[in-house]
Amino acid sequence: MLVLGIETTCDETAAAVIERASDGSGKILSNIVRSQIEEHARFGGVVPEIAARAHVDLLDGIVDRAMREAGIGFAQLGGVAAAAGPGLIGGVIVGLTTAKAIAMVHDTPLVAVNHLEAHALTPRLTDGIEFPYCLFLASGGHTQIVAVTGVGQYVRLGTTVDDAIGEAFDKVAKMLGLPYPGGPQVERAAASGDATRFAFPRPMQGRPDANFSLSGLKTAVRTEASRLAEITPQDIRDLCASFQATVLDSTADRLNVGLRLFRERFGAPRALVAAGGVAANQAIRGALDDVARQAGTQLIMPPPALCTDNGAMIAWAGAERLALGMTDTMDAQPRARWLLDANATAPAGYGK
Ligand code: ATP
Ligand code: MG
Ligand code: FE
Repeated sequence: MLVLGIETTCDETAAAVIERASDGSGKILSNIVRSQIEEHARFGGVVPEIAARAHVDLLDGIVDRAMREAGIGFAQLGGVAAAAGPGLIGGVIVGLTTAKAIAMVHDTPLVAVNHLEAHALTPRLTDGIEFPYCLFLASGGHTQIVAVTGVGQYVRLGTTVDDAIGEAFDKVAKMLGLPYPGGPQVERAAASGDATRFAFPRPMQGRPDANFSLSGLKTAVRTEASRLAEITPQDIRDLCASFQATVLDSTADRLNVGLRLFRERFGAPRALVAAGGVAANQAIRGALDDVARQAGTQLIMPPPALCTDNGAMIAWAGAERLALGMTDTMDAQPRARWLLDANATAPAGYGK
């Protein structure tokens, strides 16, 4: 089955075509991502109105390219999927409305995909893993440990009580004067920095729940930076290295607890899976490898390009749903907020 996927929840305008075989394996036929970094860079972050307008301008061309590169016509589609949230509502409306138009004109099923579910199911596309698995979702808007027991079946074991990890990387980058987007910049600076120079507090260390907290660490970085008379490039590298090392330590501690909670409720996970933009960080990959090994499971991480926002993950989540007969109607609503675990309560600060 061929599925077109559309992603417009943030600052990437993306479309992709994937093919899902009847044995459940998937293949990416095209995956076009047009980042709007240039449009937003001079503002130091994503400006929602500019993003929405850029999606309007770009999406038709991106869908066209995805279809052409896949070498298929709309009539061959088994369905069209769009991220219907959570995200910046203007962009979500653009993507979902476009998908509805395609579904209607070409008489093909519509799937309104949760963007977080798409991150969560990506390792089934890349590695074909079976349920249940423990997901560590770390992106610009979310930081969660989730038990994935089936398509549409998610139990949140832990979440951040304030900032998301990607958000913390972005804010630290900004306060140190590094260009947007900050995550990759902090990682690059950290590579040649001294991680032992600044001793930052380790948030939530040893707590029995699997929640995260990042805002205290972010403030600690700001405080140390403001103590320096003049910030040299080496200071920036050392601050980034110390910050990143603390995030790694805290993440390992939180995941150890999360994996223990997983085992108690769902038995042994088939894997620890990391997804979301932060999983593109190579240092985090190393740290998670140790966590998985200690917990007696394997680590699976999609390649970086499939960790950050893309259309292939939306198409794949759509295909997984279509295979189970889970389609949506033209009434599907765009949603700024949309919890992956329907039973979870929103923590303070959710949606930032
Ligand atoms: P969400 O998926 O929660 O809606 P989003 O779509 O903006 O948020 P993604 O595109 O999945 O998030 O990821 C972007 C985030 O990942 C940004 O905060 C970015 O700084 C972070 N990020 C990307 N690469 C790296 C890296 N190498 N190291 C650390 N963080 C990174
Ligand atoms: Mg993004
Ligand atoms: Fe994302």
